[in-house]
Amino acid sequence: MDFLVLPDIAKPLLAWYDAHARVLPWRDTPTPYRVWISEIMLQQTRVQTVIPYFERFIRALPDIKSLAGVTEETLLKLWEGLGYYSRARNLQTAARRLIAEHGGALPASYEKLLTLPGIGDYTAGAIASIAFGLPHAAVDGNVLRVISRLAASEADISQPRTKRMIRQAVEQILPREQAGAFNQALMELGATVCLASGAPVCKGCPLQKLCGAFTLGLTEALPLKEKKKARRVECRTVLVLTCGGKTALHKRGEGGLLSGLWELPNLAGHLPPQEAAAEAAARFGVRVKEIERLANAKHIFTHIEWHMIGYRVKAEDCGGIGLLWVSDEQRRQAYALPSAFRPYANEAGSGKA
Ligand code: SF4
Repeated sequence: MDFLVLPDIAKPLLAWYDAHARVLPWRDTPTPYRVWISEIMLQQTRVQTVIPYFERFIRALPDIKSLAGVTEETLLKLWEGLGYYSRARNLQTAARRLIAEHGGALPASYEKLLTLPGIGDYTAGAIASIAFGLPHAAVDGNVLRVISRLAASEADISQPRTKRMIRQAVEQILPREQAGAFNQALMELGATVCLASGAPVCKGCPLQKLCGAFTLGLTEALPLKEKKKARRVECRTVLVLTCGGKTALHKRGEGGLLSGLWELPNLAGHLPPQEAAAEAAARFGVRVKEIERLANAKHIFTHIEWHMIGYRVKAEDCGGIGLLWVSDEQRRQAYALPSAFRPYANEAGSGKA
């Protein structure tokens, strides 16, 4: 199927949105900058998680100029725990481009927005419609699901072709003057009524009478989506290296998982204590005084799972190769540590130097 014809849902959908829209901090003043930051934060991340991050970020970096000029350490610290750190780096690269090429403002053009790092079809559509009132669709996972059910479509929503088809169909029915509200209403319906997991709450849905999946009894069968590949499991041994009240951090290389971020030093595989101590010496130049086993932990990334064992390693001195020794206070204030290390970072702060 190369096209999709949708019923005219604008009126009941907008009326429902008017009455049921959640109060969210980026909605009260939808400036282009605030819409941009919120949309980037909301990628792969739940609304409730994003709210405090958004408020803190906007307080610290209220405009494009401050975002362009902030140090990478501070930027990543503001992002600490949100994951997908390339989003933060792309924001800053884009902010610098906006200053150099667009007079320091986001352009009121879907096509120009698309040229900025970190901005794809969905985000360009969201900024164009919500912040600038331009008639472009913003099709995220929620919209794919709602439209697929509404049209009783059996096209696989993980396919780019289906996404394109749904975007075109939404642009056909989008009310020109209320594109931003319409896009937000569709997303809101997907997030709060036409739910992904479990049954959609059709009895509270303003589109029930127009919905193909509801009429045909297919609400739980749709949308169709190819199953994701199983995640790859990686075993790691995490070292909480301590010395005189300080803990060692190590900077990851550029490229790949957690590119260029600070981490607790870690080694491939699950190593027994003697081997972990020998590897700590060989790889990080640490003179090991004592080694003590910590609890196991697990962290799930999009495509990889880390299964971790850990050791607290007391070092003879604060030396070593490529290590930065910081107090717990310094680490909390200035260095962003990815969530994967959180169980062991707490150990670092437990004062057992
Ligand atoms: Fe989704 Fe049910 Fe509404 Fe159809 S009627 S759009 S399946 S919530």
